[in-house]
Amino acid sequence: MTTQLQLDSHGSVPSHALDVLQDDALLPICKACGTQYSAPTPTCPICEDPRQFVPASGQAWTNLAELGPSRTVSIVRDDEDVRISSINVDPPVGINQTPFILETAGGSYIWDCAATINPALVGYLLGLKQPLKAIAISHPHFFASSLTWSRALRVPLYLCEADNRWFQRLSDIRPEDKVEWWSGEAILGQGVKVVQCGGHFPGSCILYWDRLQEPPPAELPTKPVPVSGIIFTADTIMVQPTQTKFTFIWSAPNMIPLDPRAVLKILKVVDHLPFAQATSTWPNRFVREDAKKVLQDSVRAHLAACGWAAEGDQLVPLEGSVQEGVLAGAD
Ligand SMILES: [Zn+2]
Ligand SMILES: [Zn+2]
Repeated sequence: MTTQLQLDSHGSVPSHALDVLQDDALLPICKACGTQYSAPTPTCPICEDPRQFVPASGQAWTNLAELGPSRTVSIVRDDEDVRISSINVDPPVGINQTPFILETAGGSYIWDCAATINPALVGYLLGLKQPLKAIAISHPHFFASSLTWSRALRVPLYLCEADNRWFQRLSDIRPEDKVEWWSGEAILGQGVKVVQCGGHFPGSCILYWDRLQEPPPAELPTKPVPVSGIIFTADTIMVQPTQTKFTFIWSAPNMIPLDPRAVLKILKVVDHLPFAQATSTWPNRFVREDAKKVLQDSVRAHLAACGWAAEGDQLVPLEGSVQEGVLAGAD
């Protein structure tokens, strides 16, 4: 269950934020993936990469000046945990990125980003009861217009160093910008951190929120809020449509599964975190119960489908699998 709040007007928006939106209004944004560029370019490297695609109709561009007035932005609040909401853009842009807002006791965070940002959204985000602390991005498919967001909201932008080359606004990062390149793990605030898992991209990461450290929210909900840890997984660990299983994809649009070795590594990185819920950055993809056991079972199922089983950190071929035949033939 969710509650939707449409943002069609804005209160006071600082002049610096309006200046940022104005300055970046005409920067090219790829229509297919929503990535914003520093300057016009003939092709979009994100879409040329096999993890995305150039539409059959060809490369096309838009910008914030076009998107702002032509899109409706709304906030969709999760009724199970009123501290979690997502930013929806209608009609969708790019790959329909729907960033999350986490309103924790220690501050608010934006997880992942979208192409569209307008004064109404800026006004809403700057008016959150818990001040915004950071934007963190899971991987290059969500880089979108994140430098514009970071400048307009004046919050640090956390990007994993391993995916540095995919950031399409490297050339105009200024000394005063708050871009934080990190590796391995980065603490965003009390109980909130990003953890690099690799897989889909070398810098693919999850956001972990340890809700056990949270005092009850000020506005008491009608039912107890979840207190377990929760992971926000984006494409690194995708929630299947059943919302009771995960899957592991290298290229979602081109339907290429993830290498079993990378899947095993993801489990190793995430398995030590205490969590019971998980959600990926797409609407209605939420595992509400026993998410860690679901993850362990899903990894086992993925490996088995590829002909492998895990023994500790090692992969061994399943009896009768193609892999066993290949290995036997190599002896
Ligand atoms: Zn693109
Ligand atoms: Zn992706």
